[in-house]
Amino acid sequence: MALAGRKVAVIGAGVGGLAAATAMAERDAEVEVFEQAPFLSEVGAGVQVGPNGVAVLEALGMRDDAEHLATIPEDIVLRDWRSDRIVARIGLGDACIKRYGRPYWQFHRADLLSALMAGASEVGVHLRLDHRVDAVTPRDDGVTLQFANGAEHIADLVVAADGVRSSVRAAHFASEPARFTGHVAWRGLIDAARAPASVISQGASVTMGPGRHIVIYPLRDGHLINFVAVEERPDWTIDGWTEPDDPENLRRAFAGWEGAAADLLATVEETFLWGLFDHPPLETWSKGRIGLLGDACHPMLPFLAQGATMALEDAWVLAAELDVAEDVEQGWLAYEARRRPRATRVQHAAARNGRLYHLGPR
Ligand code: FAD
Repeated sequence: MALAGRKVAVIGAGVGGLAAATAMAERDAEVEVFEQAPFLSEVGAGVQVGPNGVAVLEALGMRDDAEHLATIPEDIVLRDWRSDRIVARIGLGDACIKRYGRPYWQFHRADLLSALMAGASEVGVHLRLDHRVDAVTPRDDGVTLQFANGAEHIADLVVAADGVRSSVRAAHFASEPARFTGHVAWRGLIDAARAPASVISQGASVTMGPGRHIVIYPLRDGHLINFVAVEERPDWTIDGWTEPDDPENLRRAFAGWEGAAADLLATVEETFLWGLFDHPPLETWSKGRIGLLGDACHPMLPFLAQGATMALEDAWVLAAELDVAEDVEQGWLAYEARRRPRATRVQHAAARNGRLYHLGPR
């Protein structure tokens, strides 16, 4: 089943959806991406893309556009929360290039999305913002998408890259709602001009303590400092997935911490709190002409910085497999056979990292 001429509908213009759309349009599919948001942006957040993700951006022809938006850390230091002692240093600059042949990049999410959007539109992908998909219904010769605004669209196949809260997964694959993982994350950005000298001089870091950790890294050539502060919690009582939070709550959660992480938290004026959710493994990632990609099928804790990168890998493999398969169903199955073992391994590794960071049982 060559992709050329196929009408593909992608739900969700996140990292996974935009990359999949591009990979399929490059194989001459007619691709439309439907995104519920009226514009693409991400509140106060960075994203790290390891060499495996860079390899996909390169294969999609986006390396040059993405490269000048990326910040390359020399290394990342792991520190103890109380003594601020460096317990490990992992090379990410030259070390990554030497070992994997490609760099390690840090982006403002809005920058990565804009590079992906530009790449997608260059190969003819049509992006429809403000198009929330309410229902996806298989028919004999394709799939009908129904939108919140009452409109309909018919496609040969549907890629649901609609994230951990995927409504396509809920409707077609599993009725269980996403579950709280027992972790929350405060995220935010700080203008480097206002950041403490200790934060600027240390570069990228993870400070680890009992039941919590803080990741800090620079973005946009060091003009912005990104932080993610994670805490274990028994439950998530807030209605929704993220909300602005009082920085005092963040500081209280990390009271008694020393060093650059504490210096940074003292300067935070605005932050958002996220509940981290996942869902149990699915029996299958596709049904007929409808399939899942990225967080919609294998969400993971962010403690290995690989969720978006796995979505990039998914995108590349899916397009390659669909293009050579006998039919859509075989293409989806071949994609799942290649992707599920790797995504599962990374999910487990990310969870294990959380236990290590939080000084918990291995
Ligand atoms: P999403 O990014 O969730 O995109 C889904 C899109 O679908 C959204 O735009 C949404 O609006 C849209 N959508 C949903 N429903 C509908 C609908 N019905 N109709 C139309 N559109 C719809 N990963 C990394 O690789 N590196 C990192 O450094 C990293 N850091 C992280 C830090 C934190 C605190 C968290 C929480 C996650 C982190 N991740 C990281 C993970 C990463 O953010 C996700 O894995 C990644 O965003 C998944 O991409 P996706 O395209 O599958 O889904």
